[in-house]
Amino acid sequence: MSGEEDMSGENIRRLGDALISTIGALGLEISRRVVEAARERRDFTSALSVNELREIVRATASVVLADYMLGDFVPRPYIIGDDGKSITCARCGMTSHLPTDVEQHYCGNCKKFHDD
Ligand SMILES: [Zn+2]
Repeated sequence: MSGEEDMSGENIRRLGDALISTIGALGLEISRRVVEAARERRDFTSALSVNELREIVRATASVVLADYMLGDFVPRPYIIGDDGKSITCARCGMTSHLPTDVEQHYCGNCKKFHDD
């Protein structure tokens, strides 16, 4: 394959798509873990201050990025809900409860099939 082919518009588009999905999936995982950590803390205190929340976000983001670099967290372009009845797009954050979207791994907001 020549260098010219490597830099084709299609390859650049695919690379951009992959980067956006990866960054989105990292952000989604960080927010999922922040919500989990904030809920655990609230069991012991009445409310979290802004500074406590910032501390949780910083610590959580560090752990998720470390897990990603170590290969312990593999970003996925979508997340299926625990009940199997929803799909959240890592790219745009939209959650769909449409059975066809869940079955086909489709995001109506991005107009994208995640498996393509
Ligand atoms: Zn989307």
